[in-house]
Amino acid sequence: MADLVQHPDEVRVISQRFGKGAAGIETYLALGGYQSLRKALGMKPDEIINEVKTSALRGRGGAGFPTGMKWSFVPKESAKPKYILVNGDESEPGTCKDRLILEHDPHAVIEGVLIAGLAVGARQGFIYVRGEYRYLVDILRKALDEARAKGFVGKKICGSDVDFEVYWHTGAGAYEVGEESALMESLEGKRGIPRIRPPFPAVVGLWGGPTVINNVETIAAIPHIIEMGGAKYASYGPPKNGGTRLFCLSGHVNKPGVYELPLGYPMKKLIYEVGGGIPGGKKLKAVVPGGSSTFLLTPDEADGINCDFDSFSARGEFLGSGGVVVLDEDTCMVNFALRIMKFYQHESCGWCIPCREGTDWLKKTLTRFHAGGGVDKDIDNILYLSQNMLGRTFCPLGDAAAIPTMSIVKKWRNEFEDHLHGKPCPYESRVWPEPALA
Ligand code: SF4
Repeated sequence: MADLVQHPDEVRVISQRFGKGAAGIETYLALGGYQSLRKALGMKPDEIINEVKTSALRGRGGAGFPTGMKWSFVPKESAKPKYILVNGDESEPGTCKDRLILEHDPHAVIEGVLIAGLAVGARQGFIYVRGEYRYLVDILRKALDEARAKGFVGKKICGSDVDFEVYWHTGAGAYEVGEESALMESLEGKRGIPRIRPPFPAVVGLWGGPTVINNVETIAAIPHIIEMGGAKYASYGPPKNGGTRLFCLSGHVNKPGVYELPLGYPMKKLIYEVGGGIPGGKKLKAVVPGGSSTFLLTPDEADGINCDFDSFSARGEFLGSGGVVVLDEDTCMVNFALRIMKFYQHESCGWCIPCREGTDWLKKTLTRFHAGGGVDKDIDNILYLSQNMLGRTFCPLGDAAAIPTMSIVKKWRNEFEDHLHGKPCPYESRVWPEPALA
């Protein structure tokens, strides 16, 4: 559907079948689907892994770990079965790309699972879908049934001697389960809390077997890499940051949407050209570059940075999950910090004290502060609490709550000072709906 092309700079690889009815297998096949699986069946496992290494594909869930390297950590020989686990527990605020892939192109995910399994010697795959994305389960279930009926899943796939089962699974709706070890716990039917690592899932994962865990967008890229070759895929992005990614652009921009752009695309162009700039010609105040757990950028920082993993890591920051949220000059950064903290306090599983207590204390402090009850020492206390969560929790949720809070206090400290001692919030000119948290 040509009108899905929203900007000429888009490079449609993962989204090339969006809007074309490819959730149905006949259309998927007509558009070249499952050809990469046939090709991969004729390749040696190491050839597949090397192709993925050459592609410079890095995990699209947020961590940005090189996918081919992750696959190569799986032991060749294992007494226990190996598994592929697709992380579709997309819950990071500002991020809404995996749902589009599963809605428009579920067979690409299934095909990616099968190819990943051939590469590492797994013969079972699981696609775990976020609990709130329940409508996607119907789409995925139908796609799996079709793939099985056509011989791409099940016994002797594509007439080969390989048996391969792929299953869907859905959660109950917990942000925490997006963390890969909690994801495995949940899939095994237990409470979704993280595991202590090491050992890492590539060696000891699901039911103790070696397990590759990849994000939906990562795994959906695999058939395209096998089809076009790793070198071609890598050429879309800068060195070591291969390919394209889906950027979810939201907040105060004229044209919010999900855009597929090469890695390394300038943030400034993303906001002002692809996103059409800020409504009403207002000034930019801040950018959330990759989901709510990332360091926020000031306008000057957003002006000069490119959207690839290494440009962000050079600053000690993260590109994150692709959820770019633009905040205009009328945004109160204290209130924004509060809204983020309400989310993390609600989603903390409560297993470790720095996260359970820290998010609660920060929520209470920020609530009082924003309501005009702040005193001088609160500002440093907010920083101190955040710093004492950082790196001291079992899973990254503690860091995810601390990182944006610290960056907001450090970069917009003046806004905290402007709220002190009973002063009404001087920034808000719009009414924000309250988030629907239980
Ligand atoms: Fe649970 Fe938070 Fe600890 Fe993660 S950091 S295990 S979410 S309490």
